[in-house]
Amino acid sequence: MSVVFRGVAQFGRALPWGGRGRGFESRRSDHLNRPLRFPVRAFFVDFVEETMIRELELVCSECGEKFLPKEKLFYRDDYMANSIRETKLICDKCIAAWNKKWKIKSAVFAEKDCVMTVDLELKDGTKYTKLDCTAIPETEIVVVGEDIPLEAQKKLYKIFAKWDMERKANLLKDCIFKEEFMRTTVTCATYGGEKFKDVAFRVNRKGELETEVAMPDYIKAQVLENFYLYGEQAAMEEGGENKDE
Ligand SMILES: [Zn+2]
Repeated sequence: MSVVFRGVAQFGRALPWGGRGRGFESRRSDHLNRPLRFPVRAFFVDFVEETMIRELELVCSECGEKFLPKEKLFYRDDYMANSIRETKLICDKCIAAWNKKWKIKSAVFAEKDCVMTVDLELKDGTKYTKLDCTAIPETEIVVVGEDIPLEAQKKLYKIFAKWDMERKANLLKDCIFKEEFMRTTVTCATYGGEKFKDVAFRVNRKGELETEVAMPDYIKAQVLENFYLYGEQAAMEEGGENKDE
């Protein structure tokens, strides 16, 4: 069986691609030497004598075999196809194999220079390294540089969310400075839940942060960074005010 579609035979319409009805061809051969000056209308009267119901076989663009879709007709969207002939159809067998293949065993995310990549291992042993990927929190999926089933995209997001939380744990989510007489303090907290309140500090001659209570180095480094930004900001604001006066 094949998919059957009905062409539209309308007067004044162009012929289908390469279209010349077989019946038309044989009849026309008698008049080959005559100029083709008959009107469009007559042209089509000849043409519509043949049926406009045609057959088209479905061929899988992945495995090259003929197939019949069961419930849905799958195709690869390349944003190019404008007709069924150009559409990259995929058979149910290939879709099933694709779904079976993409069972994720492990995923290791990394981010460098704002580009996130993931190393993947599938249950069938296939490995992919440094695939570009993007996490989409709105739909809780991770899209990667390969076509992967939605289920795999969702599974990747779960792994991503855990990794993202862990990497953020030591990051400061806020950092507030307070300047009092002879005393500058910081109040800060990390995503992981570590908190410091009104801790007095100073920057020593080596440019290191000295705090009145012990603070882990990774927090000190961020406080210092923020303090320099804060200093620059304050200087800029002052400069601005002076200009206005
Ligand atoms: Zn196929």
